[in-house]
Amino acid sequence: MNMELFILGTGGMMPLPSRSLTSVLLRREGELFLFDCGEGTQVSLRRLALRWKKISVIFVSHTHADHVTGIPGILMLSSQVERDEPLYIIGPPRIREYVEASRRILDMYINYDIVVKEVSGQESVFEGEGYRIRSYPLSHTKPCLAYSLEEDLRPGVFDPEAAHALGVPRGPMWSTLQSGSVVRLDSGIEIRPEQVMGPRRPGRKFSFVTDTTWVPGLPEFVRDSDLLICEGMFGEELVEDAVDKKHLTAVQAAQIARQADVGRLGLIHYSPRYTERELKRLAHQAKRIFPATFLARDLQVIDLPYPE
Ligand SMILES: [Zn+2]
Ligand SMILES: [Zn+2]
Repeated sequence: MNMELFILGTGGMMPLPSRSLTSVLLRREGELFLFDCGEGTQVSLRRLALRWKKISVIFVSHTHADHVTGIPGILMLSSQVERDEPLYIIGPPRIREYVEASRRILDMYINYDIVVKEVSGQESVFEGEGYRIRSYPLSHTKPCLAYSLEEDLRPGVFDPEAAHALGVPRGPMWSTLQSGSVVRLDSGIEIRPEQVMGPRRPGRKFSFVTDTTWVPGLPEFVRDSDLLICEGMFGEELVEDAVDKKHLTAVQAAQIARQADVGRLGLIHYSPRYTERELKRLAHQAKRIFPATFLARDLQVIDLPYPE
């Protein structure tokens, strides 16, 4: 099952000519989940040929302008296409007021359901077949949430030799066992899937964290993520500013990644003060703590394969 992450923007505070505002889109088996939606998000969606119509949920970290001003534009696209499924918008308190005021004042004609869900703590906020998305409260200058998508355990590896040894003939019975059902042999003996399948394997986990100061429970929340996208707004020389403004430095993001034992860390939400070249210095600082760190770049596409 395919899972890919599209980086729609990497900037914090304000968009730059080469850097849109922080927003990422996760595509899992054709279903799209948008995380944050700054001004101009729809331009990046278009550049990557992603169809907004397929977006099931918009997860909002918080209601600062650099994370939500793209939402009215995305909703307005509705007049261009037919859509049957509801669009879920999940975020901290006041997201409902923001969405409703935008719809009312901008006189939007929207021909499908918009379901807004306000969340303030750690809870399961959305689930579908084979996955669940959870929220976690961060510590910023206003209510802010991290999100994590975690897949269910996958079936173990089928062992053809074990099947042979138990007298299960190759064919439809193999697929029945692989899909988790019991089969009955001609002899009347029943074979259970666990007799021919290895132990269940973990699915994938993706986490999105932006606009927060250090929160003690955060490493546990993002633990074992295959990919953690985390704010690394400032370099270490500005750690005091970061603490004051309730943001993370690249090094703090790396410390979270190391403590949580994640697979890869992608930094995001860069301060507009840094040029592309200066960002390399931030990455360098972070890599000393957590080597599997990279700078997320606008329009980058990242594949998330199953772990080995
Ligand atoms: Zn921000
Ligand atoms: Zn903010």
